[in-house]
Amino acid sequence: MHCRNCKSSDLLKKKFNFDFYTYKNFNKISEYQTYIECKKCKIIYSNRVSFLKKLYKKIFSKDYLGLKFKDLELIPKFNSKSIYHHFFVGELKKKNNIKILDYGNSSIIQLKDYSNFFYNSKIYFYDITVKKDFFFYNNKTKTTCILTNNLKKIDQKIDLIISFNSLQYYLNYKSFFKFIKKISYLKTKMYVVTPSIDKNKYFLLLGDEYFKFSKIGLTNFLQKNLNKKTKFINRKYLSSSNFVLIDFSKKKISKKLYKSSKLNMIDKFLKHKSQQIKKLKLKKKTFIFGTRVNSFFISKYINNSTELIDDQENKSLRKYKLLDDISNKNISILIPYTGIKYEMIKKILIKKKFKNFFQA
Ligand SMILES: [Zn+2]
Repeated sequence: MHCRNCKSSDLLKKKFNFDFYTYKNFNKISEYQTYIECKKCKIIYSNRVSFLKKLYKKIFSKDYLGLKFKDLELIPKFNSKSIYHHFFVGELKKKNNIKILDYGNSSIIQLKDYSNFFYNSKIYFYDITVKKDFFFYNNKTKTTCILTNNLKKIDQKIDLIISFNSLQYYLNYKSFFKFIKKISYLKTKMYVVTPSIDKNKYFLLLGDEYFKFSKIGLTNFLQKNLNKKTKFINRKYLSSSNFVLIDFSKKKISKKLYKSSKLNMIDKFLKHKSQQIKKLKLKKKTFIFGTRVNSFFISKYINNSTELIDDQENKSLRKYKLLDDISNKNISILIPYTGIKYEMIKKILIKKKFKNFFQA
């Protein structure tokens, strides 16, 4: 067996016996996954390709979108409006007379939204799930918008390429990069966002992803396939993501990036965490903040009757009646966060004189 990225035969294959979920709605899809980590280029990818192919057929098929399946919810849509807003306002200087491609976005609403940010420009949205091409002209900004599932319609050089949270699903990534090479030129800038397993180790448990990107793995992957310079950007609004700028005017800078195994490290972390949670002295009823993969993992190792609480919006967190009713002595709360978010919840709980909470 050889690394899919760099062809090295120095590979680590590791099986994880945990529950694995889909990103959207956290449907449990498997009780194990096997990942391969290349010891040379550090890329990590799933060894269960036929399992993923079957799953993707369901998630990404064109026919599928028109049907009323409950599983429709599986479609990964985790590019929030606020990410785009921060991105357009904060990162982009030129908003005039440019060609833009958002690869892997099928939202007509977003396409129309975009057209207000750019003047005299042309915006393409490409996604395989698009059923019918859509055309829109913004009279105010004089920007043309095209939504398509046909790459042949994108027949010019593109200045700004966006790939937000889709690269981790590309089993056939080679055709993706081949196309990117075709439409790029010296002035092209490409922005890539993926989940980061450095920043959140629990992301390994998102079982519908093919690639698991660390900073080193993603760097080597992009440089190998595009041969251009990559630069990581740190932004608060993408705190658990890899956020990379690829500058097509500059050649790659080769770095030798040998480090210890990420898969072994995450395995150790998840095993330790599951033991640690089992030992916690919890009250009869336990609440876990956050409908995210961290929370689902933790809830599995608690015997109490646990309830997951959606706190994605600070508003709903404060509104939630549990926090008004916090005087109840028979509950405990697990907070699966670090950093600012943990501090924020902790502050509310301390103010309410509630002591029975744990950082998990
Ligand atoms: Zn490799």
